[in-house]
Amino acid sequence: MSLIIQDLHANVHGTEILKGINLEIPKGEIHAIMGPNGSGKSTLSKVLCGHEDYEVTGGSATMDGHDLLSMSVDERSRAGLFLAFQYPVEVPGVTNANFLRAAMQARMPEGEELDAVAFYKTLYAKMDKLGMARKFTSRAVNEGFSGGEKKRNDILQMMMLEPTYAILDETDSGLDIDALRIVSEGVNSMRSPMRSFLVITHYKRLLEYIKPDVVHVLSDGKIVRTGGYELVDELEEHGYEFLKNTEQ
Ligand code: ADP
Ligand code: MG
Ligand code: MG
Repeated sequence: MSLIIQDLHANVHGTEILKGINLEIPKGEIHAIMGPNGSGKSTLSKVLCGHEDYEVTGGSATMDGHDLLSMSVDERSRAGLFLAFQYPVEVPGVTNANFLRAAMQARMPEGEELDAVAFYKTLYAKMDKLGMARKFTSRAVNEGFSGGEKKRNDILQMMMLEPTYAILDETDSGLDIDALRIVSEGVNSMRSPMRSFLVITHYKRLLEYIKPDVVHVLSDGKIVRTGGYELVDELEEHGYEFLKNTEQ
């Protein structure tokens, strides 16, 4: 059981950004993607989630054998894919609690009703874990949230939805120490043989807490290096420039 990406090519507004991505993330593993700004990291996460601005021009992506690219955004999400962070969506007028209830109801088998009492019990327990005040439930999704509150809320969504494959596309700026801890603890508490993470980041800090199993480097729309955690230190020491001389 894996997320398998083969020779994936994608365009944005007619320009090729992904130039043949190959990646396999087995269930239970945490993979990190690092890479310079503009290398296509966010493009990859958006293509996987089915964002409409991105046109797949070749290759494939499957999730546990299911063709991801032929599914709608909603179908991907219901099949267990989760994308957090880079552009947190504001949903004016819809409270956090109702948003989550609707998302979880959509994942229930046809004809089954989400148990409201159990839902709130679980929600409050997870909010307590994240140090979130109860009033969060009645605020509109991400509306007027600070950066740290948005990150907490993303992690709350992830904890409630329990995705099989979670993609965390980190904003490289504005992650303070608190947000960093929340994100890392959230991810670490959800580590499971039945779940995989793709953690996208520009910097080492987050990976120090999360300790990925495998690290990939994306450069100019291609994975140019794959290795263990030592690759993170190598990048920290030499910067992305050194990749130019060491492309596989
Ligand atoms: P990264 O996340 O690695 O910094 P991105 O995937 O955001 O890189 O961007 C890769 C390239 O694609 C950049 O040159 C960027 O300008 C371009 N790009 C990404 N999204 C869009 C978009 N919606 N419209 C136009 N160009 C885009
Ligand atoms: Mg190719
Ligand atoms: Mg990005």
